[in-house]
Amino acid sequence: MVDNIRHRGKRERLVKELEEKGITQLAVLAAIGKVPRHFFVDGAFDDEAYLDKPLPILENQTISQPFTVASQTELLNLKPKMKVLEIGTGSGYQAAVLAEMGMRVFSVEIHRVLYLRAKEKLEDLGYDVFLRHGDGSEGWAQYQSYERILVTAACPKAPPALLQQLEIGGKMVLPIGTLKNQRMHVITRLSGQEYQTEMLDAYRFVPLRGKFGFSEEA
Ligand code: SAH
Repeated sequence: MVDNIRHRGKRERLVKELEEKGITQLAVLAAIGKVPRHFFVDGAFDDEAYLDKPLPILENQTISQPFTVASQTELLNLKPKMKVLEIGTGSGYQAAVLAEMGMRVFSVEIHRVLYLRAKEKLEDLGYDVFLRHGDGSEGWAQYQSYERILVTAACPKAPPALLQQLEIGGKMVLPIGTLKNQRMHVITRLSGQEYQTEMLDAYRFVPLRGKFGFSEEA
């Protein structure tokens, strides 16, 4: 795949658009300015890769809208080299943005085809990310605890396993609500037992499946 001057120009315009929409963290904007989003979308959508909209990927899933990626990343309030767990690898784009920012990224995807595809793309681009195929609603116990956790699918409630795997002092960013609409939540772990929850803007994500997600019939 090529990343030519046309792609780079579109990427710069996207960064300006995100700034106009209120994204302020320079590290986030810089990463979006670097990661070639068109590598992560289906070839048929190459022309739309730098528009601020979600796009279809395999298995009826979507690559989140750039504004959503930027705002979730901003809400994580990242510092260099943090250990971040992402649930819902999807295309791998969000994981690439986190890796570009220098994070130690762990990401779990429930659909095998998406996991395999994301693995190949991230390797091709030289991003060092730990990927796992499995049910991320149960987290990734082997490498706990995490300084930051990001869920990129709609949750009926905060998955208990993720609350458990969050480091004390750590933050989790996730959309919680119904299948139709969710509010972004930021949960901070204050101590072993105490968590503080902030509820923010409305979004619409594809559903989290698995043990602590929405059932398949939903
Ligand atoms: N972060 C992705 C967007 C993903 S869309 C990107 O940058 O492209 C949400 C993803 O969550 C989908 O790929 C879906 O298959 C996955 N998902 C849903 N339930 C899951 C679960 N229980 N564990 C892991 N992944 C899950």
